[in-house]
Parts: sequence; structure tokens; C-alpha cells
Amino acid sequence: MLNEILGDIKSYIEWELEEGNLTAEVAPDIVAALSNPPGGSGSTPTAEPKASAPNPGGSGSSRTAEPKVPSLAPPPSLSSIAADIAQCTRCGLHAGRTNTVPGQGNPTPDILFVGEAPGKDEDEQGLAFVGRAGQLLTKMIEAMGYPREDVFIANINKCRPPENRKPTPEEMCTCLPFLKRQIAVLKPKVIIAMGATAVEGLVTLPKGQTISKVRGQWLSFEGIPLMPTYHPAYLLRDPAMKRPVWEDLQTVLGFLGRPVPPVVKRAES
Ligand code: URA
Repeated sequence: MLNEILGDIKSYIEWELEEGNLTAEVAPDIVAALSNPPGGSGSTPTAEPKASAPNPGGSGSSRTAEPKVPSLAPPPSLSSIAADIAQCTRCGLHAGRTNTVPGQGNPTPDILFVGEAPGKDEDEQGLAFVGRAGQLLTKMIEAMGYPREDVFIANINKCRPPENRKPTPEEMCTCLPFLKRQIAVLKPKVIIAMGATAVEGLVTLPKGQTISKVRGQWLSFEGIPLMPTYHPAYLLRDPAMKRPVWEDLQTVLGFLGRPVPPVVKRAES
């Protein structure tokens, strides 16, 4: 029991460190003791508090300087996040999955495309947007003048919901930290949120607002410009909606200062 609790605390601390949310503040005497453990040679230099170190505790504290101990946790990376996703059993969707689908693409992309959740093909291959909707997404990306490998493609949920149903709000909330960690590493210039689930997952819309009302209008996710548009699966059902989506993609190109490529065969084909 105790071991389980300690294990949970350890995982929590590792998680927060990876997120960059925790720093350890340790008094100089403790740093010195740690730097010079009993039985050591005694030659390890002790940490000298710097006179100029900030002292948020204010004057009068006996701890004149509190050096920050650098985190020993490795810096977050897409592969470490994908490894965490692969282990995840936080919601019921894990039980039905063949593979987790973390997302894939350029690790330093201009654009991050976000969809809802893996479907059958994605679950089988462990890759985002590789089925019919994915083929249309590839055409949309190429129509913008990017090879598909130059963008990053991910989903709100990393496991396939049964019968491709929409993930529940709880399932979305549970999985969202993974996407947030990915975004923190990817630092995309723009996020394109495709469909209601992607928009609802990343942005709190005012009451009464829907994807059809907000599409094409810039929103923001933690300071990153976010363009809401329709999901490619919706475009497969209603091809007339390809026109407004192409307009949204052109707005993104304009923001990025990229030319609209000449029409060869655009997303509406
Ligand atoms: N639909 C999505 O939202 N994501 C995929 O990866 C595939 C289809």
C-alpha cells in the first residue's frame, strides 16, 4: 500500500518535472550536505549562494539565497510523451485499443493539425489520419504547399473510441494533458483544429458558439493562434464544405506569410 502511494507520488513528481511545473528550492546547507555526502573525499565544492540570487522570501530570512537545483529529469521530448501515451490506462478507451496513436510529423512544424481521435485504420497502424479522412487531409496539406511530413498531425484522444463514437468530455479531459505536452514541445506557429471535438478540447467557446459559427475566425490556445475549421470526415460527407475549409487554410497561409500555391488540384477535388 505504502509502496503504491510512493509510486504515485513519484510518477506525479516526474510528470510535473517533465512539464516544467516544479522546481526544487533547497537551502544552501542541504545542498552542501548533498554535495559532500558522508564518506566522500571532501573535495567536492560546496554550493556557494550567489549574492545576487533573487530572494523571493524578502529580507530578514536566514536563508539569504536559495539556489535552484537543476532538474535531473530529461527534457521532455515527443518520444518520451509517446512512450507515456503507450503506457496509459487512465481512461476506459485503453481497453479497446490495438495501438495508441500519439500523432506524427515534423517536430518543429509551422502547423499542427488536430483532429478528434483515431479510427479503425489509425488504431491498426498507430498513426494519425491514415484512413479516408487522412487521405483528404493529405490533399489539403499539399494544396497549402506543404509536404505532409512538414506538418505535425495529432488528435485530442490517443486511443480509438468504440465504433468511432465521439470521445466523452471525461475521456477528452483525461487525454488532453498529452496533447498539451506535445504542443509545449512542438511550439507550432499555428494550430488548425479540425472539427468540434478538436475545438472544444483546446478552446472554451462561449455558450451557444458552435464549430460552424467559429470556423474561419482566429482563436488562441495558450498564446498560439488557432484556426477552427471543419473535420475532413465531415468534408467526405458534405463536399460542399470543402470551399469554406479551403478559405480557412488560405487565411492560415496568409498569417504564415506563405503564398497560396497555384491551383493544380485543390482540396475540393
Ligand atoms: N479522424 C480523426 O479525428 N483522427 C484520425 O486520426 C483519423 C480520423
